Amino acid sequence: MTASGLSDAVPLGPHDGEPHQAGLNNRLNWLRAAVLGANDGIVSTAGIVIGAVGATSDRSAIMIAGVAGLAAGAMSMGAGEYVSVSTQRDSELALLAKERRELREEPEEELAELAGIYVGKGLDEELALEVAKALTAKDALGAHAEAELGIDPDDISSPVHAAWASMLSFTIGALLPLLTMTLASDAIRIWLTVAAVAAALAVTGFVSARLGYARPGRAVLRNIVGGLFAMAVTYAIGSALGTQIG
Ligand SMILES: [Zn+2]
Repeated sequence: MTASGLSDAVPLGPHDGEPHQAGLNNRLNWLRAAVLGANDGIVSTAGIVIGAVGATSDRSAIMIAGVAGLAAGAMSMGAGEYVSVSTQRDSELALLAKERRELREEPEEELAELAGIYVGKGLDEELALEVAKALTAKDALGAHAEAELGIDPDDISSPVHAAWASMLSFTIGALLPLLTMTLASDAIRIWLTVAAVAAALAVTGFVSARLGYARPGRAVLRNIVGGLFAMAVTYAIGSALGTQIG
């Protein structure tokens, strides 16, 4: 009794530190973005090379289409990620600047505001004020950023890193259908690509479901069906165009 009561009352441990928590969330976000980028690379490049093979059996034409698709997709992902993370970063930095100014110009109001947040979370007023004072003394901006804005000032995402990461993950995903389609023999390349893509989408679907704490079964199925559908559509389009033009 005493021991468990004590351990309940003294919740110290490696999992209690805010920086660790923030760092973990950030790593999970990066991992999620990487898995989604790879998934995009797999599906879009598989669609391109399957569409091309529907239109032509010319191996170099299929390869050119696949490589162009890979490059365009990676650039597009990188640019999109750069723009979106830059916007997020700008707004986070602006909010932090505003908070910093408020802390300098009206510290009393800011202290009351911070205490109010902890009252809202269930602390009584006296304790909330004590907590707010202690946090303000230690790191006023960090405390306000975390409680009011949900931002860790030491952990603002870099647009350049995000852009490179999504380009890299897209490229890794894209290489799978590109290599199976261009390296395998004519007799098996379509089915080998379809099988490799389905297997890879099972993995990305499983990992992204687990990262989001969802049950993997349906996520895996949806992901595979989506990829197969994309390949079926582009193969049909490629075949129709190939017949028209060829
Ligand atoms: Zn504030």
